[in-house]
Amino acid sequence: MHFPTDEDSIRERVRAIDPIEYGKSRNFLCGKVTHLSPYITHGYISLRHLRDVVLKKYSVQQSYTFIFELAWREFFQRTWEKEGDAIFWSLKHPQENVVHESGLPEAYLLKKTGIQAIDNALVGLEAHGYVHNHARMWMAMLVANISKTSWWEGARHMYYHLLDGDRASNTLSWQWVAGTFSAKQYVANQEMINKYALASQYKTYLDKPVNMLLGGNVPDELSQNKSFELVLDDVALLRESMSLSELKKTETWLYSMWTLDPYWQPARSTDVQKILFIDMDDLAMFPMSAKRITFFLALSKNILDLKVFYGKMSDLETLLSDVVVYKKHHPALFNWPGEASDSEYLFPEVIDIPGGFMSFWKKCERYL
Ligand SMILES: Cc1cc2nc3c(=O)[nH]c(=O)nc-3n(C[C@H](O)[C@H](O)[C@H](O)COP(=O)(O)OP(=O)(O)OC[C@H]3O[C@@H](n4cnc5c(N)ncnc54)[C@H](O)[C@@H]3O)c2cc1C
Repeated sequence: MHFPTDEDSIRERVRAIDPIEYGKSRNFLCGKVTHLSPYITHGYISLRHLRDVVLKKYSVQQSYTFIFELAWREFFQRTWEKEGDAIFWSLKHPQENVVHESGLPEAYLLKKTGIQAIDNALVGLEAHGYVHNHARMWMAMLVANISKTSWWEGARHMYYHLLDGDRASNTLSWQWVAGTFSAKQYVANQEMINKYALASQYKTYLDKPVNMLLGGNVPDELSQNKSFELVLDDVALLRESMSLSELKKTETWLYSMWTLDPYWQPARSTDVQKILFIDMDDLAMFPMSAKRITFFLALSKNILDLKVFYGKMSDLETLLSDVVVYKKHHPALFNWPGEASDSEYLFPEVIDIPGGFMSFWKKCERYL
């Protein structure tokens, strides 16, 4: 799976969306999903733009499943906006029956869980930074519900490797699977995995009726947990970054790794500096792979005259304290200096965000 960073290839990927085929096949690993998540996560394309592109060619009915899935992302973003940092902790209920508070099953780290579809997904995660939605659910289920490991450990490991790693979609999906942000734990047995992976694997520890998978002992294959390190390789950022003294005291359009929109133009000014600010302390707290950093830096090249500043928030704030600063709306940027542009939500009419997705969707549906 390849994720190009040039404008033409990305627009081609958007043009190729077929919501009818998507609706029929999205649950299968070989289904016609869009592979757009890295561009959406980095703010290169908005959900609203995707909805509009699709509705230009297809009816609401034909686009229903696709927009429904886009709304999941919006729900997670807006839950983040509402709950703040609480999303990094079990949000509704504590995780049940945790056996391992830290580390991950050694078999999972070695990509040898014995479940072929999950092992393939783990290989893909490291090699391409992408995993299909269903495989992500199986991985999260295996870690949180079968090996009974704290969901946070699996979430931060996955986030590190994903090109689309998003703090809300990632932590809240893990919590949805682990039952800490949903009514019950999600579980898939070998039969379900075989169906959607088009596999035929039998006699594994998941080859049981679904109702027998939860509540028992951790299978021997997953009983050993091992600690792991997520090394932040920021060489590319250090190489690209301008120094603090190069920043000017002038009107600034502040970009982040979450808001790399090449068409954003918050004002008509001429003497402007465009800065992609990467907060060192934040990145140390939520590390990501060198592949991910290289990806978003390459994506940022589509923005004319954009300069990278990799440094401390306090330095940036001091320097920009008395100049006009614009930033795009994003839940990760609430504490950043500057005036935020309006959100590009799909359903801005929905103001109160309920605790569950289906209640959210019910409210959204009437604006479709
Ligand atoms: C454990 C777990 C962790 C996840 N972590 C992330 C993450 O860090 N970043 C991330 O963007 N998504 C995450 N997801 C959601 C989903 O798996 C990905 O958005 C999707 O697989 C991306 O592939 P795609 O672009 O081909 O999706 P498509 O199916 O083509 O969907 C188009 C877009 O709709 C949105 N979308 C679709 N399904 C979902 C969903 N279930 N939840 C939220 N948004 C959705 C995404 O923005 C996606 O790019 C996670 C899901 C799970 C179960």
